[in-house]
Amino acid sequence: MPEGDTIFRSARTLARALAGKRVERFESAFAPLSVAAENAELAGRELTQITAHGKHLLMYFGPELCLRTHMRMSGSWHIYRVGERWQRPRAEMRILIQAGGFEAVAFLVHDAELLGARDLSHTLGRLGPDVLAPGFDTQAAAERLLAAGARPICDVLLDQRVLAGLGNVYKSELLFLARVHPLREVCALAPGVARELSARARQLLQANVAAAHGGIVTYAGLRRTTGRANPGDRLWVYGRSAEPCRRCATPIVMQRMGEHARSTYYCPECQPLAQPSARAFGA
Ligand SMILES: [Zn+2]
Repeated sequence: MPEGDTIFRSARTLARALAGKRVERFESAFAPLSVAAENAELAGRELTQITAHGKHLLMYFGPELCLRTHMRMSGSWHIYRVGERWQRPRAEMRILIQAGGFEAVAFLVHDAELLGARDLSHTLGRLGPDVLAPGFDTQAAAERLLAAGARPICDVLLDQRVLAGLGNVYKSELLFLARVHPLREVCALAPGVARELSARARQLLQANVAAAHGGIVTYAGLRRTTGRANPGDRLWVYGRSAEPCRRCATPIVMQRMGEHARSTYYCPECQPLAQPSARAFGA
């Protein structure tokens, strides 16, 4: 599932090709979107801005009209020169925008709607602060995490109403880095730990936005010497079930956890469910 950094990179790539260009052709496999585009006379309008907010990709056609798409599990935006062969089958095309000699193609996007300024601000208003936004406030984000009460942290990190942009991979990686068990209730977290989670969330996403390669990197210890690009060498715990913890060699555990039974990877030794201080005084 694409996370905030992937959407941010998609928006940046699309903006480089299309910003300031006039729409020559708009097609969609979604009938309501086609009708809305026709009513709004999208063809002929200028693509003024393309940005990401959390996992939402926003294409603006002037200040009053925005196409919002959400990738969900398998959606993606590609950019091609007109006439270039697509890397995905035509049957998976959901939206096509031709402008300035390029075709922007959305494959298998889940949500897509044209919104006026008011509806857009209403939609975005339901989201938490974007982890990649320039004004992201680590302290305020930590307070939002703590305010989620008795819910397990593995669910809260995925809740886009709390923080926008994190997905299932970063969830496991962040919890490992901060040594927090995924089922810990957020109200039981020390404020310093909540601050560490929000600061590291931003760090990890920013590092992946800056990186030239694709894919998610949170651990690059092996790459320095081997140059391996295998995803298994790039992450601390995600996807490493039964492999040795990179800190303590205990086998990594995968369990389906939380509201939606999402796969969650952790080290039972480095991320105990009981608080370490409680154990220290237990005897
Ligand atoms: Zn460990």
